Amino acid sequence: MKTQPDPYALPLRPVPRVVIPFLNEKVSSFVWRIAETHKLHAGELLEFLAESRRNRAPIPERRLAAVSGVPLPVLKYALPELWTPEDQGRLRLAGRPRPGFRDRAGCQRCIGSWRTAGWVRFWARQEDVICHRHWVWTGTKDSLDLSAHPEVASEVIKANRRHRRLIRRHGREAIRSAYYDAGQLCREWNNSAIPNKEIRRRLTSMLGPGWSVYRDEPASEAAYYPNVVELTRILSSPYWRSLILDGHLPASTPRQPWELLGVPADFCWLMESTPGIEQFTREIRRTVNPYFQWNPYSSYRSYAPFTKWVLGELRDRFTPSRYGYPKYQPEVIEQGPLGGFGSNA
Ligand SMILES: [Zn+2]
Repeated sequence: MKTQPDPYALPLRPVPRVVIPFLNEKVSSFVWRIAETHKLHAGELLEFLAESRRNRAPIPERRLAAVSGVPLPVLKYALPELWTPEDQGRLRLAGRPRPGFRDRAGCQRCIGSWRTAGWVRFWARQEDVICHRHWVWTGTKDSLDLSAHPEVASEVIKANRRHRRLIRRHGREAIRSAYYDAGQLCREWNNSAIPNKEIRRRLTSMLGPGWSVYRDEPASEAAYYPNVVELTRILSSPYWRSLILDGHLPASTPRQPWELLGVPADFCWLMESTPGIEQFTREIRRTVNPYFQWNPYSSYRSYAPFTKWVLGELRDRFTPSRYGYPKYQPEVIEQGPLGGFGSNA
């Protein structure tokens, strides 16, 4: 019986000019660069490779290797979206960024003279926020060259070294949640009448006087970063955590975990100042925000941002891992068996 030939079973010919993938590059970025090099329509090339018109349809790795002309092992090593759980042990992927979390532009100067550098996109880890060689901020969707602002750049680089040290010392999981909480707190403090002169100084240095900036713009994130890392250090340190959290433990376990949310009467007085809390407050004032004050009282049934953080941490002690998952999903490949890789898995 004669069957219709499958057009995609035909051998695919590689494009004339080989484009080499960058480490941790997104597949769509790599395909976009192949299209750009050969004056092809990027969307059509993506559809052809994926054999689908569906948005973000996964691209079979063998088709990508055949068309790009790059050997499959090289593609597999460079492009996180091609990884499968079996690749984890074989390619030693632990510590590499997990696809689907942080999509970044990377350092334009490392990318080199590639004229469409803005279109090269990478998967990044939490601490991949600055290129130490070129002083380019890469911690947001778009990057920002800080080499014209050496004072800000050196503060960010110093903070980044500390950030990496913290990850090595306390582990990724502890730093992941502390860093996220520290970012939220620094933002809320600045928005609620506890302004920070250091952050303002950095913004003025980068944007000039009379600046205005949106929250997730590169200049804003870079200006906050050194303060966020300082607060991350405090929130992740067992010593400082014990000073601020253990002084609040009620004499007996609350009858219901949710009582902590409403702060029962026998708990409320423990929220007032203790020597440990005073020491903690001094440390935050010295390193993060000179105007920080410990305020355990609710106003209009709402607590100050930091008090909310304390209550949240105490609540987690009584009802640990609420849904059996870690607080934040990991953005890197970790040791040990796991599934749930990127969209191309
Ligand atoms: Zn660079």
